[in-house]
Amino acid sequence: LLKVCTMYAAPAIQKLLDEFERLPGIGPKSAQRIVYWILNTERSDALRLSDAIVEVKDTVHFCTQCFNYAQDDLCEICASPKRDHSLICVVSEPRDIPPIERTGTFHGIYHVLGGALSPLEGIGPESLHITELLSRLNSPEIQEVILATNPNVEGETTASYLSRLIKPTGVKVTRLASGLPVGGDLEFADEITLGRAIESRREL
Ligand code: ZN
Repeated sequence: LLKVCTMYAAPAIQKLLDEFERLPGIGPKSAQRIVYWILNTERSDALRLSDAIVEVKDTVHFCTQCFNYAQDDLCEICASPKRDHSLICVVSEPRDIPPIERTGTFHGIYHVLGGALSPLEGIGPESLHITELLSRLNSPEIQEVILATNPNVEGETTASYLSRLIKPTGVKVTRLASGLPVGGDLEFADEITLGRAIESRREL
């Protein structure tokens, strides 16, 4: 029914509806709500939104150390003297960092692999930032690596591959404790469960 209704929208409105409907997690109803909010709001509000979109595209790139998103050479976390730089938490994607940060349990730094091993999709070790991780471990400062890849097949495969590589270096390797929904994404884990999984991580 909504589809039929939007067919009668002015072309500019329809264009914006189409753009919002393409976004992850936004269906036709939400797209409509957002577009009508934009139509009703001040021009300055709408400009702030469009400027913010252009700004992230123009100024954000990957941290040269951990491959998280950053505006400077280093991301806010790598650059912070308040973080524990002896502890590296390895995640698949930058989007896995905010849920871990929200737990308030982890005060170390990160390493973003840029994906997970998946022979089926042709994603091998050379597609991930594994060499960069290993070279970070050459620093005598590093005491522990926490493997926080997703609790699904690709994430588990990646974690066991990395643990085989890291163990010979003598750095302690741990994996998030179970309790996380199997097959799920860290992104959607609740803070309490994820916080507990970090605290009761087990050595590999
Ligand atoms: Zn960083």
